[in-house]
Amino acid sequence: MELVDTFGRVHRDLRIAVTDRCNFRCQYCMTEEGMVWMPREGLLSFEEIERIARLAVERYGVDSIRLTGGEPTVRAHLSRLVKKLAALDVDLAMTTNGVSLPLVANDLRDAGLRRLNISLDSLHRDRFLELTRRDDLDRVLQGIDAAIDAGFDPVKINVVLMNGINDDEIVDFARFGREKGVIVRFIEFMPLDADEKWGPERVVPLKRIMEEINEVFPIEPVERTSAPATRYRYTDGEGEIGIIATVTEKFCDTCDRIRLTADGQFRNCLFAVTDYNLRDAMRGGASDDELAQIIEGAVHDKWAGHGIDTVHFIRPKRNMSQIGG
Ligand code: SAM
Ligand code: SF4
Repeated sequence: MELVDTFGRVHRDLRIAVTDRCNFRCQYCMTEEGMVWMPREGLLSFEEIERIARLAVERYGVDSIRLTGGEPTVRAHLSRLVKKLAALDVDLAMTTNGVSLPLVANDLRDAGLRRLNISLDSLHRDRFLELTRRDDLDRVLQGIDAAIDAGFDPVKINVVLMNGINDDEIVDFARFGREKGVIVRFIEFMPLDADEKWGPERVVPLKRIMEEINEVFPIEPVERTSAPATRYRYTDGEGEIGIIATVTEKFCDTCDRIRLTADGQFRNCLFAVTDYNLRDAMRGGASDDELAQIIEGAVHDKWAGHGIDTVHFIRPKRNMSQIGG
């Protein structure tokens, strides 16, 4: 059976936040003090996460799982969870701020993790410090090298672009990606920031990113798949870039994502305003069929699109770190 919503979209990509905690405090994600963390006993255990993941894979043919957070590497013994999920034979990936990778990249790779996205929004030390509120640029750069050395393939770098803040680094990031042999993915700033400073004027649109890069390193489009990134390859064969244009060129029509938060809430969209409580159902003794009913109901209720560009848009109460980006 497939997880199909009322618009005919089939869902095969599960994002799992393993914690809401983080060792960074990125301006566009958390407040300076950090968020009010979820109580530990409220977080799903590895066994509970595995149970939902197994159900999604075995019953609905989910074939792609990404671990995220908060910062997934702050969850103790993460490689144990990776090992359990790798046994499900899915495309297993993780999004991380990269700062712990010099220590854990090899363990995670050995446990069965295959793909890594590392977030990095500035190549300048001062700006990195201002954006993340941590003076850790060198460690993140070492983390990228550690990921490459450990054999992760591909390694992707996620860059959230914000007008007036780091939009002068578009070409520098393209150059960085070409030199390192990693795929840079530019992400439009989304209204999921804890400080609520988002505004449409802060978004750097896809068109501008593409044009600036094309002027220095000519690019051509790569055929689109259900993946959110609009992809371009360098015409000289030196790799590719991706642009995730959630705001200016939304891809809701082909969205195949479902989400599980660290506290066991199932969500049908990054911008959903409703949580479906799988944790309490599990802890209350629900059978797999009962969990499946909740999941199917949630997917059935998925709306056509996020509507950021409309007056009807309602900002979710959870920010990015509490949903899992
Ligand atoms: N801590 C990990 C990290 O930073 O990669 C994983 C979780 S983080 C919430 C996942 C992704 O969401 C990161 O690439 C981050 O840059 C992105 N992100 C966070 N807040 C965002 C926002 N308001 N708009 C766009 N992307 C955002
Ligand atoms: Fe932490 Fe990632 Fe949010 Fe930055 S974007 S504060 S690293 S969860």
